[in-house]
Amino acid sequence: MVQPEPEAVDLGVLLTCLRGTIDRLELEFAQYAAEFEKDEGYSYEGYDTAADWIRFNCHMNSHAVWNSLAVGAQLARLPQSVEAMRAQEIGYAHLATLGRTAEAVGKVFDETQLLPLAKKFSPGKFHHKVQHYRHSLDAKAYNDGQERLAEERSLRIGTAQDGCLLISGVLDPVGGATVRNALEPLARPSGAHDHRSREQRLADALVEFFSAGKPANLQVTATIETLKGLAGSAAGEMEFSLPLSSASVQRVACDCSVTRVLLNQDSLTIDVGRATPKIHSSLRKALNLRDRYCQWPRCERSAHYCDGHHLQHWIRGGPTDLDNLVLLCKRHHRMVHEGGWQLIRTDEREVIVIAPTITFGLPRGPD
Ligand SMILES: [Zn+2]
Ligand SMILES: [Zn+2]
Repeated sequence: MVQPEPEAVDLGVLLTCLRGTIDRLELEFAQYAAEFEKDEGYSYEGYDTAADWIRFNCHMNSHAVWNSLAVGAQLARLPQSVEAMRAQEIGYAHLATLGRTAEAVGKVFDETQLLPLAKKFSPGKFHHKVQHYRHSLDAKAYNDGQERLAEERSLRIGTAQDGCLLISGVLDPVGGATVRNALEPLARPSGAHDHRSREQRLADALVEFFSAGKPANLQVTATIETLKGLAGSAAGEMEFSLPLSSASVQRVACDCSVTRVLLNQDSLTIDVGRATPKIHSSLRKALNLRDRYCQWPRCERSAHYCDGHHLQHWIRGGPTDLDNLVLLCKRHHRMVHEGGWQLIRTDEREVIVIAPTITFGLPRGPD
């Protein structure tokens, strides 16, 4: 006997139904959480607040707990909003913002002013709109809130065992916006072959931002052998970094706005001092004017963020002149020196790139 085909499930319908159920459960949870807070039962177990008790015992993060407590405590002022949520006109995320706002602004809260916005906008956008409402009600309180956030700013940097820099921190909204304003344009995908994740692009943007437009005044210490990439040479040294590969030393030295300290093999300093930039200012101007942006195919990073790259490295006798130089952004400069990509400039002055050849192990000798 032929079995009938099972009916296809409409996943979209299923998801919205499930979300409606979860939202209603969240509301129920919020009601009980507020009751629990009133009863102060948590204090017998040694917790300072109901929020702490719920966080540990219900395995929730603080933000979610505060939402529940606010919604539960403010329910009496949110009758129309609750109804709208039950009718799935808004979600629990909207209700949480309404509850937190009612809690923050106090007696003057009026849900009818916000509910139409909640119905119209996504939870993220609604949260944004609500900030205007809060400001309009009490600009001073809003400012005080922003000031409190600014007081909580912090930035921690540390070095991991493998030499990587670890960064974590919190910035107030204005400080955060300033940083994003600088990083976001630099973090967009750029050029052919850009397979970086958003996190990688942001990390590159940070480095690029700090090293742009001025000589990377890095003190690099390396032997001539390292600079030439000869077999058996030691790694280079740079302040705040673990030893650098010779490919990295070559890249930093390519634009050569570095303090150059060369050591001979007995580690005696044989050349100390601020090396004049390899590409002097008038040549740099001419290079910027000619190339205007990174010369990697389809990369449009402006000259301000670029290094001057010697097509034939000066350490191998390449001249520092316009014919032998091209602008490359930091990432593409790295792809050439450390990543093994090759750049070729055609007779039409077009730059083409060749991916590194992948080799699997050493060629095998005859058996
Ligand atoms: Zn270079
Ligand atoms: Zn580029």
